[in-house]
Amino acid sequence: GIRPLVAGNWKMNGSLAMASALVGALKGRQGNVDLLVCPPFPYLAAVGAALAGSKLALGAQDCHADASGAHTGDVAAPMLADLGCSYVILGHSERRTDHGETSGMVAAKAQAALAAGLTAIICVGETEAQRNAGEELKIVEKQIVESVPSGANAGNTVIAYEPVWAIGTGKTPTAADVEAMHRHIRALLKSRVTGGAGMRILYGGSVKPSNAAELMAVAEVNGALVGGASLKAEDFWGIAEGA
Ligand code: 13P
Repeated sequence: GIRPLVAGNWKMNGSLAMASALVGALKGRQGNVDLLVCPPFPYLAAVGAALAGSKLALGAQDCHADASGAHTGDVAAPMLADLGCSYVILGHSERRTDHGETSGMVAAKAQAALAAGLTAIICVGETEAQRNAGEELKIVEKQIVESVPSGANAGNTVIAYEPVWAIGTGKTPTAADVEAMHRHIRALLKSRVTGGAGMRILYGGSVKPSNAAELMAVAEVNGALVGGASLKAEDFWGIAEGA
């Protein structure tokens, strides 16, 4: 089977002291899943140093589509690789909303990530209005078709399904709804992507220790992308144990 990945997206939270304490509390743990932390850019170097020698992987939350150049305030994928990152989250719904990122832009960023040797975690997911209109499968399919670059394979790309209405709300889809979406994504990956049968498909949106086991047991769910609950070591570890 596919080895699960449990990834913590810290978003724009924490402080240097909090980041160090969190990674310190996690670094000794070793379970049956791969564990990843994605701190804000300014803390990547310190967190990378703190997790050296552990099984924890380091990731970032965005990168630019170019490898270098005149892009004030942006961060390039090779810089992330330089700092010890092995993953980068791309196309999170908050970036699509806050920064107007389109799927085409996400594909260009993912291409840059793969060229730098990073694994891209490409996020997709429908809004509440789209689900109420019964369009969720169609919307997510379009996002995947447009966001996943050529050259993506099971080793260098992860898909994260995050229904926008489930992010930070405490609401989650039913297990049946998660299964329907993940099966749809799996079929799409099998038909379009090299090694698509083995590509990880994560679920994200209000994952916590009390619902992790149920969500992670759903067919074609290969781990979790965790926001709020990844900021507390015991919650993040509780989710990893449920996966
Ligand atoms: P929450 O776990 O806080 O709902 O956030 C999910 C998310 O957006 C992870 O990328």
